Amino acid sequence: MNSDQTSRVTRRQFLASTSVGAAAFWLAPRNLFAQDTNPVTVSRGQGAGAKITVQNLRGGVSVLTGSGGNIAVLSGTDGKILIDAGLATSRPGNAEALAGISSSPVTHLINTHWHFDHTDGNQWLNSVGARIIAQENTRKRLSTATRVEAWNFTFPPSPAGALPTEVFKQGLTLFLNGTKLALDYYGPAHTDSDISVEFTEAEILHTGDTWWNGHFPFIDYSTGGSIDGAIRAAGTNIARVTDDTLVIPGHGPVGGKSGLIEFRDMLVTIRDKVAALKKQGKSLEETIAAAPNADYEAKWGGFFINGKTFTALVYAGV
Ligand SMILES: [Zn+2]
Repeated sequence: MNSDQTSRVTRRQFLASTSVGAAAFWLAPRNLFAQDTNPVTVSRGQGAGAKITVQNLRGGVSVLTGSGGNIAVLSGTDGKILIDAGLATSRPGNAEALAGISSSPVTHLINTHWHFDHTDGNQWLNSVGARIIAQENTRKRLSTATRVEAWNFTFPPSPAGALPTEVFKQGLTLFLNGTKLALDYYGPAHTDSDISVEFTEAEILHTGDTWWNGHFPFIDYSTGGSIDGAIRAAGTNIARVTDDTLVIPGHGPVGGKSGLIEFRDMLVTIRDKVAALKKQGKSLEETIAAAPNADYEAKWGGFFINGKTFTALVYAGV
């Protein structure tokens, strides 16, 4: 990967090129992406044309996919409760999808963590009446200029309307639309602000970005994430679900316990391989060349993070 290649990013090439680009960033951590071709700007651009798909689960819960992280919607007499807000550039598509579910207004928005592909829509949803609830570190990260080194991007402080107004440290229980919603902090995992949201009666768990179903996950070391934290959170998810639980990941299709186990096992296997190579004194380049992700690349490497990038993310934390 070189700068000539990164400058030729088209929409179709985006996923592949940012994956390779992110790996190259870790190899040569300076200004790999021009400001207009970094993953954040490109994602926001794609969000404008994103097709939003609605999947109805059970217990009044639906999932909107297509714009940033997966959005869960609980609709009822208390209005719509949203888990995550997607990209702001997808407002028209998301608003249309929400109107198709029911005519009730959006009254509550819960952010699973601070990342832009889960919170960009905060401001417009607040402007139509949503209270925003999150773990306290989500508010902290959104309140100030926050840099993610791996994306070569510094987010400016969010406008007041985009900030969570109700925050908590460890957990919060809400009763809305006849449903118990249990919000639980993972501790540092993918970032330092990750929470799960459980729709208790419906047995549906939204894991935020502690689970990417079928994809290598991003790990945000710049704001408190780590591979070991990600593995701990994956274990927490497995421990709290049953074979009947429907699990909504941050990215990828809705799944269940077996998918969570497969994901956790993948994380642990690659972590152990990378840690062993690093302990032998291998450099990052040598570790990537040893392909500790080889058995997993075909299945997990096709989205935002490819095997080389994931190896680099793991290497940084062992
Ligand atoms: Zn994230």
